[in-house]
Amino acid sequence: MRNVCQMELSPVCAEGISTDGGIKSDRGHRKSKVSRDVEMDIDYLYKAVPQLAKVFRIIDKIGEGTFSSVYLGEAQMQDGRREMFALKHLIPTSHPTRIAAELQCLTVAGGRENVMGVTYCFRKEDHVVIVMPYMEHQAIVDIIGSLTFEEVRLYIYHLLTALSHIHQFGIIHRDIKPNNFLYNRNSKMYALVDFGLAQGTADTQIELLKVDLTGVRKVPRPVFGEKNLNSCTPAPSTTKQAVIKTELVKPVRTEDPANRRYSSASRGPLPVRTQSSSQKPQRTVQQGLTCNCYLTERVCNICMSRKQQVAPRAGTPGFRAPEVLTKCPNQGTAIDVWSAGVILLSLLSGRYPFFKASDDLIALTQIMTIRGSRETIQAAKSFGKAVVCSRELPRQDLRTLCETLRGPRLSPDDEVTPLPGASRDSTASHRQKIQDDTPTLRPTEGTLKQHKDGAGETPFPLSSSLPNHQEHSGSKATSTRLAKQTSEVDCKVEDDEQGWDRVPDEAYNLLDRLLDLNPATRITAAQALQHPLFEDL
Ligand code: ADP
Ligand code: MG
Ligand code: ZN
Repeated sequence: MRNVCQMELSPVCAEGISTDGGIKSDRGHRKSKVSRDVEMDIDYLYKAVPQLAKVFRIIDKIGEGTFSSVYLGEAQMQDGRREMFALKHLIPTSHPTRIAAELQCLTVAGGRENVMGVTYCFRKEDHVVIVMPYMEHQAIVDIIGSLTFEEVRLYIYHLLTALSHIHQFGIIHRDIKPNNFLYNRNSKMYALVDFGLAQGTADTQIELLKVDLTGVRKVPRPVFGEKNLNSCTPAPSTTKQAVIKTELVKPVRTEDPANRRYSSASRGPLPVRTQSSSQKPQRTVQQGLTCNCYLTERVCNICMSRKQQVAPRAGTPGFRAPEVLTKCPNQGTAIDVWSAGVILLSLLSGRYPFFKASDDLIALTQIMTIRGSRETIQAAKSFGKAVVCSRELPRQDLRTLCETLRGPRLSPDDEVTPLPGASRDSTASHRQKIQDDTPTLRPTEGTLKQHKDGAGETPFPLSSSLPNHQEHSGSKATSTRLAKQTSEVDCKVEDDEQGWDRVPDEAYNLLDRLLDLNPATRITAAQALQHPLFEDL
């Protein structure tokens, strides 16, 4: 990948672009390929940043988030070659410092170690366009069902390589998820993108991340991040869901100095500190309580009127670490490692997205279903947060969980009743089983104290995710015994070929270390690269 340099881009003298930088109509060409909406967006971009037209032929829109639109552009290089670029047009309301910080992350850390580089940057007035080499990639949601175990192992290795690299610079990415880690399955290329939410550690080498960036992005992130990859089938309404209440008990304002240390962060700007600094267990929550609702399922008026703790919580709920979900002000690079763990969990179980939550407490409850409620409460205590869960949720064995969700071979006695016209999921009966076994979460009205609008959300576990063998068994399973056996054999063959029948313990051991609830003991990206799972790499 290219390093930061002002690449020699010569003006594209393609037809349709006039010499004054304006655009002649090349609509005839574009119309055949892109929708009218995209065409209008492209025209808007040419008008907003006219210099672009001298260099690029903008071909299509390839990404759209809350803070940017990303376009595919072609440029003719001086040696005559045509190269493709990704043009990230930041929304004009982005804070200048935020934009500069994103660029600085790319220029300082990008272009190597699986981190996207930057080629050029255009600005006209408040419009900024970051130009990067274009990397063709596949969406995880489209390929998760066909990935081999070896592909998953390499994917995680390369993600950890990128994380280890940016963490060395004191960059906390804060939005690690598959949409931001581009993966080209054929060329085995990987690139971490989107430093739009990045923050610095206490000793960050990125000057602009030393500035407090909390809240400089004016528009709140959407709950589910990029919508296109999360538009899954809704949960079947028949799913049995137990009601579990989780709440974060706010530490009260008391005389305790330790308490004050934590709450002091809510007064002013919040430098994100590394986890090494002052992460002493806070044993003070129980002390000096001034209200009666502590550890009960109600919130008293005193607590209702308390100011919300302010802590960085940008990102996507399903990938947020427990310390982010509980608004721990002391967040470090470990939050990215947690997100990598969620990705690995997703890839090993064949379910994406794995956690899907509309708010932080629901997300925390989902974590508890997998990692255990007692364990979560214990970990939260270590970073000064009191969490109450109305019911004990046992910790799951990760291998059993992943193998069950991935969908085992059918037992010969299983009833197979394909849904007419719908793709039949061979794992459905098994999934139903785990849904029954696993305490599932569908918080209903009033069960969550702090987030009343979460009612009715949360398909879990994973009922909205894509089943692994969906396509495969969907086309083959029939109600006849013969077909069923064929399907069963095929599944087995497929598993053998994909390596899912021999996932080593190391994979689950690494997963366990990435999903360590306590950021202070969670494995670092650099340590994870040394994990036995990657011995040969
Ligand atoms: P946002 O802040 O809006 O999420 P991103 O930087 O994550 O912006 O880009 C949005 C999407 O655009 C990515 O998920 C990816 O699909 C695509 N994209 C971004 N950069 C590139 C690139 N260099 N090459 C190819 N596609 C890219
Ligand atoms: Mg993104
Ligand atoms: Zn109270």
